[in-house]
Amino acid sequence: MDLIPTAKIPKRGASSSLQVPFGLHGGKLVEPLQVPLGTDCDCSCPGCGGPLIAKHAAAGKMTPHFAHAANTGCEGGLESALHLAAKQLIEERQELVLPPLNIEVTAYGMRRTALSRSALLHPGGTVHLSRVQVEKAIGKIRPDLVVHGNEFELLVEIAFTHFVDETKLAFIRNQGIAAIEVDISDLTVIDFTALAQRLFVTPSATTWLFHPDAGPLKEALEIELRNDLSTERLEWSREQAALKAQADIEAREKAQLKISNRPHTVKHGQKEQARRQRTAEFAALSNEQKLSRVLRYLGIEMDELPSFLTMEVRASRGTSAQPRVWQAAVFASLIHTAIRRKEPQVNVECVLDWLAGRFQSSVVGGRGSPTSAVKDYLSSLEKLAILHRHTRSEFLVATADFSAAKELALDHRTLGRLRQRWRKEWPSREQTETLADVFSTIHGSSQPWTRLPGLLPSVRENEEPLETIMYYMSGNSPGIGAAELRRFFLSVGFTELARP
Ligand SMILES: [Zn+2]
Repeated sequence: MDLIPTAKIPKRGASSSLQVPFGLHGGKLVEPLQVPLGTDCDCSCPGCGGPLIAKHAAAGKMTPHFAHAANTGCEGGLESALHLAAKQLIEERQELVLPPLNIEVTAYGMRRTALSRSALLHPGGTVHLSRVQVEKAIGKIRPDLVVHGNEFELLVEIAFTHFVDETKLAFIRNQGIAAIEVDISDLTVIDFTALAQRLFVTPSATTWLFHPDAGPLKEALEIELRNDLSTERLEWSREQAALKAQADIEAREKAQLKISNRPHTVKHGQKEQARRQRTAEFAALSNEQKLSRVLRYLGIEMDELPSFLTMEVRASRGTSAQPRVWQAAVFASLIHTAIRRKEPQVNVECVLDWLAGRFQSSVVGGRGSPTSAVKDYLSSLEKLAILHRHTRSEFLVATADFSAAKELALDHRTLGRLRQRWRKEWPSREQTETLADVFSTIHGSSQPWTRLPGLLPSVRENEEPLETIMYYMSGNSPGIGAAELRRFFLSVGFTELARP
């Protein structure tokens, strides 16, 4: 909490404890000038009860005050007088002025700029009170004042020589009662007027020590801030990817220029060359060979081909490669690896580009438009929740890999009726975080997806997935739905479906 005031050093000496600003007279506190001089004042000390002498000079050279008639060794006269005076004033006015309480959380994003979220917890201003208690014991502490208003309770500390310390503050927090501290340590003249100024007019010397709603509000703001951060991270990575793509194009153009100018001096770009060679090699394979290579890569046999690699699409009759050949290839190369590469974006153009280099005319050839074939394929993956349509032409990959995609497709086909169970192998934290970013983009900023990656491993041994889902739904994460959580668990690979 940032509500702890920094330690202040009292400006008063010990000698002032012998001087008392207010005396008790007929059950009420009075100022020295309200009563006759000397022992005629008929006042007693609010601390020790001993008789007081009123001291003031007509010439005004002396600050009016009370002194003990006999040295009683009174320690608490001054503090007690202050607390009682504050109580008396508050009882007369039945109000108190409070400073506003603003809660703010800040963090730095990927662009090195500060992101922040804040909310006004208390607007400040005058509050109306019904009851004041002075030095009433609450557990182990004795706050200077406890004030009661309409359905609230507030501890008021009057700081003259003693400021609230860590121990007392920890106790206040523990009790969960709001508390403020009114600093009057700078007052050179202590009288009713000066006290009233601090209590009812200017709250600038008053600080909030604690507010029971500050913690939960701060937590909620932190969740929003974490979502802001992950949105920013996603935007940033997209920008970086675009910059990198642009740089790659420029580098390639430069390299080609060099090749044409000085064919024997090019030493770098070997990686790029190897990649191009692999692409050409793949392009040269027959469709059958391409498919068997992709299936080997995904670790499945021909008869295990899931339906989402053999989707009906428009223009499929117009393409010479069977849908399953190019769909399996696109899936294995662009979707299966997207989360691991931390590049969850897929769009129609990049798929077409990728296909053009590897299938040449085989997809394109014929009557159908490859654009509508690819569009249909991506849309059908969207229906299975493997992809999520982010903008009109761009999709986000919402599944960790091929294996998680199989679970999503099965879940879709069985209408969510199969039981989930934890997987034996736990997905990597990085992968989970990337998908959490994707899910918070999909479901909006109120969803605390970013909390899920860190919290789950420990509960796996003690709970069924469904119990964990219920936990997240039971008011812990407002707005989060069971269906979305189930999909997230399957998508990141926390769970798999129990086959009947
Ligand atoms: Zn006294």
